[in-house]
Amino acid sequence: MNTPQDVKMRVYSFGDRVADGNSAMKNLLGSKGANLAEMSIMGIPVPPGFTITTKTCTEYNQIGKDNVVSLLMTEVQIAIAKVEKSMGTRFGSNENPCLLSVRSGSRVSMPGMMDTVLNLGMNDDSVKGLIAKTGNSRFAWDTYRRFVQMFGAVVLGVSALTKEDQNPFEEIVEKYKRNRGIELDSDLDVADLKQMVRDFKDLCEMQTGKKFPENPWDQLWASITAVFDSWMNPRAIYYRTMQQIPEEWGTAVNVQAMVFGNMGENSGTGVAFTRNASTGENIFNGEYLINAQGEDVVSGVRTPQQITLKGSKTWAASAGVSEINRKTKYPSLEELMPTTYAELNTTQAILEKHYNDMQDIEFTVQEGKFWMLQTRSGKRTAAAMMKIAIDLLAEGLINEEQVLLMQEPSKLEELLHPVFDGEAIKAAKIIAKGLPASPGAATGQIVFFADEAHKYQFSILVRVETSPEDLEGMNIAKGILTARGGMTSHAAVVARGMGKCCVSGAGSVIVNYKTRQMTIDKQVFHEGDWISLNGTTGEVYKGKIRTKDGELSDDFETIMKLADKYRVLGVRANAETERECKNAIKYGAEGVGLCRTEHMFFEGERIMRIREMILSEDETGRRKALDKLLPIHRQDLKEVLRAMANLPVTIRLLDPPLHEFIPHNIENQKEMAFEMGVSIETIKQKVQDLKEFNPMLGHRGCRLGITYPEITEMQAKAIIEAALELKAEGIKTFPEIMIPLIGTVKELKLQKELLKTIIDRIFEEKGDTIDYLIGTMIEIPRACLIADQIAEEADFFSFGTNDLTQMGFGYSRDDAGKFLPIYIEKGILKSDPFQVLDQEGIGQLIEIATKKGRATKTQLKIGICGEHGGDPSSVEFCHTIGMDYVSCSPFRIPIARLAAAQAALR
Ligand code: PEP
Ligand code: MG
Repeated sequence: MNTPQDVKMRVYSFGDRVADGNSAMKNLLGSKGANLAEMSIMGIPVPPGFTITTKTCTEYNQIGKDNVVSLLMTEVQIAIAKVEKSMGTRFGSNENPCLLSVRSGSRVSMPGMMDTVLNLGMNDDSVKGLIAKTGNSRFAWDTYRRFVQMFGAVVLGVSALTKEDQNPFEEIVEKYKRNRGIELDSDLDVADLKQMVRDFKDLCEMQTGKKFPENPWDQLWASITAVFDSWMNPRAIYYRTMQQIPEEWGTAVNVQAMVFGNMGENSGTGVAFTRNASTGENIFNGEYLINAQGEDVVSGVRTPQQITLKGSKTWAASAGVSEINRKTKYPSLEELMPTTYAELNTTQAILEKHYNDMQDIEFTVQEGKFWMLQTRSGKRTAAAMMKIAIDLLAEGLINEEQVLLMQEPSKLEELLHPVFDGEAIKAAKIIAKGLPASPGAATGQIVFFADEAHKYQFSILVRVETSPEDLEGMNIAKGILTARGGMTSHAAVVARGMGKCCVSGAGSVIVNYKTRQMTIDKQVFHEGDWISLNGTTGEVYKGKIRTKDGELSDDFETIMKLADKYRVLGVRANAETERECKNAIKYGAEGVGLCRTEHMFFEGERIMRIREMILSEDETGRRKALDKLLPIHRQDLKEVLRAMANLPVTIRLLDPPLHEFIPHNIENQKEMAFEMGVSIETIKQKVQDLKEFNPMLGHRGCRLGITYPEITEMQAKAIIEAALELKAEGIKTFPEIMIPLIGTVKELKLQKELLKTIIDRIFEEKGDTIDYLIGTMIEIPRACLIADQIAEEADFFSFGTNDLTQMGFGYSRDDAGKFLPIYIEKGILKSDPFQVLDQEGIGQLIEIATKKGRATKTQLKIGICGEHGGDPSSVEFCHTIGMDYVSCSPFRIPIARLAAAQAALR
């Protein structure tokens, strides 16, 4: 084999116990290619083949098809010669054809998002050769029609003309099955298959206006470039955006000798998981089909059978299949092919031990010979992610650090998803049962098309089966129900990856896309009807069912405890009500990092008093209104401080532009006029007065406290009096008063002096004191640059990265939605900078401010309270630059704890 160092290699061969690459080369060979190489070296039987590197994909996008083909030509020819030698066949030969599979494979698995072509090399001549060689004409014609169908769909782009139409290839298959009165593809005979090849080709030629390519080399280059192209298809782009996978990674292309699961009753193919991908239980499980190729199992065209006997019995019990029926119609692989099962079982155990992680594997049996086609780290639910790691630790296969690094922080959000309310579910009616493909509870209105998932606030996507095109709709829907497909179907795998509730293979569900109806046991459901799904049991219910918050499991507590052991970064919550504070504590918050006091002013009498203040002509009027607000504000703050006893609470002074407190539509203005006892004209005039061209850059933040010091005074009183009252009750509090939107030192100085005067006066009046801090938000770029001066006046900094991103980029946080998606699509930005901190630019501002602040005060307390405080990569950045804590919404606290631990370990 070549030595990779020799030349710039674009093609890496594998097979026959040797390989140019290995599993450490995922970045270059993609996960599939790297693992095929590794399995070859391990002596596991994989069909020989080669991987074209991910870097070539990038080259392809830069220099185009013709240039890349000429760059690849020699290396591909050499690699194919090796495959031919190993298999004893010849690519392009009519007598002894070497057929190939061409598959995508990026660094991380993107199930079904990119293209695959199987049985490549078939044409009118090679089909004859294949018959002569195998003596199996049914197999040869079945292989040929599969090739035309897949090449037609994937490379030539032949598809249904409208979304209500069936896939045109499948329509042809259905027609043949109907004419012959058979149910299964595998019962089609040679005459049918032969005619079908012609029909398929006609369809391709009609839709493309070109002859179907017969030359195997033309087929090969078209397939390789189609796989490269599929890296940039809309669903792959959407998936990458969702999973934050960079475009520049590219996909590798894996070309391999075909092995055939469709050679008859002693052949088959399957997909398996070394542990349960939904629950994490250490149980080998999977599905297979006899006389089939891999696509049949995942696409759900036939109901797959279970690999293990135990799994088969469990499946039969839930599907209501009798033991006799199960044994004869749906036997397990363990019963049907015990030798193959034993080989598979040994291989799965070896692979799991080798990779120290749950594997998702694909295999094929060709006339009794066992072949492995793929192994990769399996997609799993959050619950499974935690259980598998904890079990691997207990089994002595990994250590604590590895347990933490195996967790995907953002998946933890799934655990907090709702479950059905115990009482509500008792009254609900089960209408169907399918497979528990992805756990959770979902209730919503039926939609039949992925691009209509947004039609309802809560929608359930109902499909015969899902395809990669449905990705975006699956993401929007609250749950997914499919009539066909098993636990390894596209719907099941993708839903588990997304943490979305999914019931698959509910056989009694009959979907009619044309009439937009679903029928279950003669009961008709229309688009918009409410149904509910339990992805943990596979049950489908009629109507809407009340849900409640999910309970946190012991595994969750174990992982969190472990995270706390390794993290150094503190984690606080953005919270302003007692309930939010209690949730925050439940999820492990060590304080409140941002209490936005304006959020406390919207309910009941509070908004009236704020409006009264806004409508006042002068300071006297404003003070009168604020005096009335004081006791309520004090009480609200007391509840927050009480809930966070013994912990720090950062309370931010009023920040938003005042127009946010005044209604902008006429009906609500009338209501306000009535409530306030003023004329509608007065309200309209006030709205006019408060109008600003750029309210986010206008009269807000500390500018309010400076122009209306009485607001700061009232808030200082409310905070300090609340803390003193709690002290009298024996409750210890640590208020940290935070001044927003500081751009000059003088602003901070003035507000601080005012606060201190008021606070000292209260201490004197009450004859008691409490500990408190006064600090500032750092959210204006100028503040970052003069942070050394600001630190002279501040006890702490908290980075308001929402505003800092807004002002650093010059993107209005309220209007950026109009262009950000296009910016991301065009690759101008990698991700939404309001969600994922832009480390390159905004990060520099934060670093400068941190360094300058700490140069003035070594012990300066520094945190972050913008949205980024709950985003894993941003948390890692905060750790790296030495912040003391991150603050985020209560539900994201577990994510931040885990991300902080991972940052410390990395
Ligand atoms: C910020 O700007 O990041 C911040 C936390 O403040 P707000 O979002 O309330 O402006
Ligand atoms: Mg802000």
